[in-house]
Amino acid sequence: MSDTAPTKSKHFLETIIEEDLASNKHEGRVVTRFPPEPNGYLHVGHARSIWVNFGLAQQYGGVCNLRFDDTNPEKESQEFIDAIQEDVRWLGYEWNGDARYASSYFDKLYEWALHLIREGKAYVCELSAEQASEYRGWATKPGKDSPYRERSVEENLELFEKMRAGGFDEGAASLRAKIDMASPNMNLRDPILYRIRKVEHHQTGDKWCIYPSYDFAHGQEDAIEGVTHSICTLEFQSHRALYDWFVENLPVPARPTQYEMGRLNLNYTVTSKRKLKQLVDENHVAGWDDPRMPTISGMRRRGFTPNSLKSFCEMIPVSAKNNSDVDVAQLEKAIRDDLNEQAPRAMCVMNPLKVTVINIDEADSGLEMKAANHPNKPELGERVIPFSETLYIDKADFNEDNTLSRKKFKRLVSGEYVRLRSAYIIKSEEVIKDDAGEIIELKVSLVPGTVGENVEGVKPRGVIHWVSAENGVKATIRDYDRLFSDPNPDAGEGDFLAHINPNSLKEYEGVVEPALAAAKPEDSFQFEREGYFVADRFDHAADKLVFNKTIGLRDVWSGK
Ligand code: ATP
Ligand code: MG
Repeated sequence: MSDTAPTKSKHFLETIIEEDLASNKHEGRVVTRFPPEPNGYLHVGHARSIWVNFGLAQQYGGVCNLRFDDTNPEKESQEFIDAIQEDVRWLGYEWNGDARYASSYFDKLYEWALHLIREGKAYVCELSAEQASEYRGWATKPGKDSPYRERSVEENLELFEKMRAGGFDEGAASLRAKIDMASPNMNLRDPILYRIRKVEHHQTGDKWCIYPSYDFAHGQEDAIEGVTHSICTLEFQSHRALYDWFVENLPVPARPTQYEMGRLNLNYTVTSKRKLKQLVDENHVAGWDDPRMPTISGMRRRGFTPNSLKSFCEMIPVSAKNNSDVDVAQLEKAIRDDLNEQAPRAMCVMNPLKVTVINIDEADSGLEMKAANHPNKPELGERVIPFSETLYIDKADFNEDNTLSRKKFKRLVSGEYVRLRSAYIIKSEEVIKDDAGEIIELKVSLVPGTVGENVEGVKPRGVIHWVSAENGVKATIRDYDRLFSDPNPDAGEGDFLAHINPNSLKEYEGVVEPALAAAKPEDSFQFEREGYFVADRFDHAADKLVFNKTIGLRDVWSGK
């Protein structure tokens, strides 16, 4: 065989779609949809769902709809609608036609509710919420019929109209399907179709004071849109019977099928929208797009790329049976691998220590160093790094103690040599301290002729990064780390907020090499020896450089 690329085995959704295409089940069409509720920003789990739905449509020449499942107006807003569209586009996907809204089908759904009433398959129930839950029973105890269950069609039509016209208080009445109060599937125990909510809707204004339930809306919306493969997560498996019941009992224009797949769970991460909202509302983070948030906009601001998120999604098996519990280190690896390939290299000193070169000689080799922008991508070119009499190195790269082992401390110590990346080997000559005993400056000598060369008898301990103090540019460096320090912040009885990592953000006033003054928002770099950083999407400007740490060069959590 000439083709040695490993062929990935097909996952169950690919198999189903291919069988449907082969049998011409939907006249060769593949229509999927991504149906977020606009009650928060999208998170990494949604990225997975987007990748599945838009990805399958692309793969099989189909289309994917974006549909806002806006049946709960209290919690929804235009801000979330806008953010969701921006995130989907940023990931590189385009939806079929205009964005759709469950609310634009409210007239149709209302008509279908009337249809069920006329068929004797729905009734207006006036049990209170507590009574209704008592009548419902539980998994092993059959429910009891509501006393309102046998109302006549006429009475139900009249009462449902009264609900619609605002004649009941919230909670005083609901429309329920008449299915089976003894069904082993709780979802079939006369589920609610419509409830009263006297609130404005961001799309329909005050037109409605009754709103359809998620279950009554979802399958019918799929049918209206001609969705062929309605993919959701496993927790909706037991809703499928109800989904099918509606599709069978209503004059819907098409008969979509729901397929369930495992949900993505990440350790060290919360993805419940309620908890993410709490983090924002209580100012534990700076907003939905705080770079520590697992939201798509947060990850974007952190420096993740669409490709890294897609390749992360590709690593995780699509399962019909199990949720995927994934180590966040896999997500971090995906971005590290992507940036290792793409990001130009640069130098940034986060904690500057002044260094004076006592024997600098302009004639020696000139004051401009050159460095490749990428170690194995010559096409990315090289840049000039000015060298000067005063430099900065990182405080952490110097130690007075020259008895430290050469293996453990491969940096600069008193009286010894170290190489400055892409420049000279230097020797520490003198340490200058302030009155408090703090090291404030080093005097060093450079070894002439050592740019790109070694000299007999001069053995540097290692290579450190540096920036010219005369030409370097100040920059704010936001050193981000995982937001939670516990692998399961959500587990147990305790408050997930107790697991917030107190060191998830450290800010430094650092210095970067002058070439970085030209960085544009969202440009990524590898700061040598420090990690991958991105110019902040919003706060970075030509006169105020701000870089966010995306991820370190290696995983420092796995050994903890
Ligand atoms: P929550 O209940 O946490 O507020 P949700 O999952 O109900 O959020 P939706 O806006 O309804 O949020 O989700 C839109 C789509 O994204 C749904 O099809 C849902 O199944 C999918 N989705 C959400 N979270 C995940 C996840 N962790 N893994 C895979 N798919 C997900
Ligand atoms: Mg939902």
